[in-house]
Amino acid sequence: MINLVSDTVTKPTPGMLQAMMEAEVGDDVFGEDPTVNALEAKVAALFHKEAALFCPSGTMTNQIAIKVHTQPLDEVICDEYSHVYQYETGGYAYNSGVAINLIKGTNGKITAEQVESAIKPEFDWLPKSRLVVLENTCNKGGGSYYTLDEVRPIAKLCWHEGLALHLDGARIFNALVETGETPQAVGEQFDSISICLSKGLGAPVGSVLIGSKDFIKQARRIRKVMGGGMRQAGYLAAAGIYALGHQVERLKEDNARARTIGAVLQQLPYVSDVRPVQTNILIFDVKPPYTAASFLEKLEERGVKASPFGPQTVRFVTHLDFTEDMMDRVIEVLKDFE
Ligand SMILES: *Cc1c(COP(=O)(O)O)cnc(C)c1O
Repeated sequence: MINLVSDTVTKPTPGMLQAMMEAEVGDDVFGEDPTVNALEAKVAALFHKEAALFCPSGTMTNQIAIKVHTQPLDEVICDEYSHVYQYETGGYAYNSGVAINLIKGTNGKITAEQVESAIKPEFDWLPKSRLVVLENTCNKGGGSYYTLDEVRPIAKLCWHEGLALHLDGARIFNALVETGETPQAVGEQFDSISICLSKGLGAPVGSVLIGSKDFIKQARRIRKVMGGGMRQAGYLAAAGIYALGHQVERLKEDNARARTIGAVLQQLPYVSDVRPVQTNILIFDVKPPYTAASFLEKLEERGVKASPFGPQTVRFVTHLDFTEDMMDRVIEVLKDFE
């Protein structure tokens, strides 16, 4: 079976498994796991930030960031497609007691002008605008990415208005291999950043939250109360260190394969709208009489799994375990349909 459901489906490579087996570990709740400490130091340095925190998931790193940046009755401003709004079980309300102020962006991306007009004036009866969250790349936006030129005016506005700026950078490296921009330059624009090790980077578990020393000090307490304090987590952190050392540049291949499949889809009579393919996520519509469900069923009969993203909408995600041969096979199957 060829699996295009998500880039989370990857399994550790032999090199990664070996790095995990050989990890030196300790009790990370006491701050005594050398491999976790090394991963946190590595990621903080990569983004030119003071400190970092290893967590079990990207949902947790985002939720901790919202909790640390806000007080109850504050609000978070973000695009309506944002993962923090769509796919985190409403955690912003549950964990932080905050409201959300959604912006209708373009493929999941918002502008400084839109943020500026979303900021609420200070009245007793209004939630207080406190935090802006950007997502790069944007998952529901079809893997769209921000360039630094697009981020800078938003960062400047946030600084001016006293708002915190958090980056949900679950797939930030998929963007950086395209733009050629550096993690350091990204780090300068944001108060906090969350990255995922278990998406395109191919680690089995883990996300890292990055920010100032004081921010991470508070984040550690929130991680603990959320049940995210892990003990010999160095075995998992080792996979993250390995991924950052060996599996970043190859994300270009995932992005390129998505683009190749996207170009084929454009030509097919049963496909109506292929969203711009910027990284490793491909979103498109199938025309009636197909529905997403009937199309995916037919695809699965031919050995390809993917996910529905709406009644007529389908999502493919390319990843480490999706090879060139598999891509050729998928294209063959797609061309065979009518
Ligand atoms: C996957 C993802 C996350 C985190 O998801 P987890 O499954 O909790 O690790 C956060 N943001 C985006 C944009 C994602 O795609």
